[in-house]
Amino acid sequence: MLRQLKTKPDIAKKFLKHNAPKLRSHGKNKKHCKLCGTTRGMISSYALNICRRCFRDNAKNLGFKKYS
Ligand SMILES: [Zn+2]
Repeated sequence: MLRQLKTKPDIAKKFLKHNAPKLRSHGKNKKHCKLCGTTRGMISSYALNICRRCFRDNAKNLGFKKYS
């Protein structure tokens, strides 16, 4: 996308400034899974910050044990 603006550095800088993702202070889109990027089913406890699906896949590697 920036290939056309390579010869125009000032315009490219302005383009990047106005198209940067909005910094969220609160709300659903502030938290997202650090493995897959989804915002649904987030687990924030123990500072995991991953979704429930990635947690199921990686729980053993993270050191969690399943007691029945
Ligand atoms: Zn995930």
